Amino acid sequence: MPSVVFRRGLDLKDAVAADLAAAYHSRIVDEIRESGFTRVTGRLTIHLAREFGFCYGVDRAVDYAYQTRKRFPDKRVFLTGEIIHNPHVNDRLRAQQIRFLSDAAERDTVLGPDDVVILPAFGVSVGELARLSREGCTLVDTTCGSVLNVWKNVRRYAQDGFTSIIHGKADHEETRATASQATDFPSGHFLIVRDEAEADLVCQFIRHGGDGGPLLAHFGGSLSPHFDPARHLARVGCANQTTMLMSESLRIGEMFREAMRDRYGEAELAARFRAFDTICSATQERQDAVIGLLGEHALGLMVVIGGYNSSNTCNLARICAERVPTFHIADPACLVSDLEIRHRPIGAPSTAAVSEVVTRQWLPAGPVGLGLTAGASTPNNIVGQVIERLSAWGTPG
Ligand code: SF4
Repeated sequence: MPSVVFRRGLDLKDAVAADLAAAYHSRIVDEIRESGFTRVTGRLTIHLAREFGFCYGVDRAVDYAYQTRKRFPDKRVFLTGEIIHNPHVNDRLRAQQIRFLSDAAERDTVLGPDDVVILPAFGVSVGELARLSREGCTLVDTTCGSVLNVWKNVRRYAQDGFTSIIHGKADHEETRATASQATDFPSGHFLIVRDEAEADLVCQFIRHGGDGGPLLAHFGGSLSPHFDPARHLARVGCANQTTMLMSESLRIGEMFREAMRDRYGEAELAARFRAFDTICSATQERQDAVIGLLGEHALGLMVVIGGYNSSNTCNLARICAERVPTFHIADPACLVSDLEIRHRPIGAPSTAAVSEVVTRQWLPAGPVGLGLTAGASTPNNIVGQVIERLSAWGTPG
């Protein structure tokens, strides 16, 4: 039986609005916004970035998940995996008996037409969508419009015989889903580069050719099946995971443009190279806002809040760490005391399982300017709790 798909919500926005506000709203965040994004408590001045926290795609995905539970109170409701990379939001959904197919306990779960499955904001692969459709489940698709925009470009590349070079993390759900759009076409191919160092390896091959074996060995699971470097790097189109560092994605695009120009000449460039800026506007706004914050104020340190597997949060932390001591924390409990903080090391792989480190004497003595921001999957109530905790340490007890 074909599945029913909801893509524009379930007409219950008003019915879940109060629940969402109760779960994620923060009065203290509203107050700090109204006071010019600054809050002074004793020796501590907190400067909040002008854009932070839930983006439009996450807002919508969480809203749809609540609507789904309300619309189908008696059905089994599943998520394919984390709806967003924030443990608090995922735990609240679990508390509403929304089950996660990615959990080990669900490994043997058999789905059927009576089940409802929510697809996350970063989408699912072409194969996974086909499997869920075959099983006849009701699908609530929360895939963000900005992700769909990347898919549109990757599909066009594949149709036109261009290999998609995806700047992203090969183990990230969004990047896996994006790559699957290329291989949905018989002659479609992709190659995922994580950073400029990996992009350089590919660019060297484009320039000089030679034995493709080392390239295949290096990229292993980051390539489409039957990838032949000599054939499949002759025409390339750049795309990216929506939450990468904007400046790095742009540089990687330029690196490929230069390599193709060096190999084939200017006259061939239009026929062999394409690029499309697929960083989403919410990611860009949050990165721009934190750069603005670092430029406007004399900050002693930055605190960045978000899940440790949240790509956009990790990238915000990278931006900050280039300028000031930066602590990426998952939640308010990481602020153990004004003497001790638990945090994710900057630059560590963005996985939920990354080991935290503990830093002591993290809050400088005397008057201090502290910058604060939060990734696109961090709700305001978590930001508010962090502000409350910090504020308590500003005033001498
Ligand atoms: S970070 Fe961007 S692409 Fe991802 S859900 Fe948010 S708005 Fe959409």
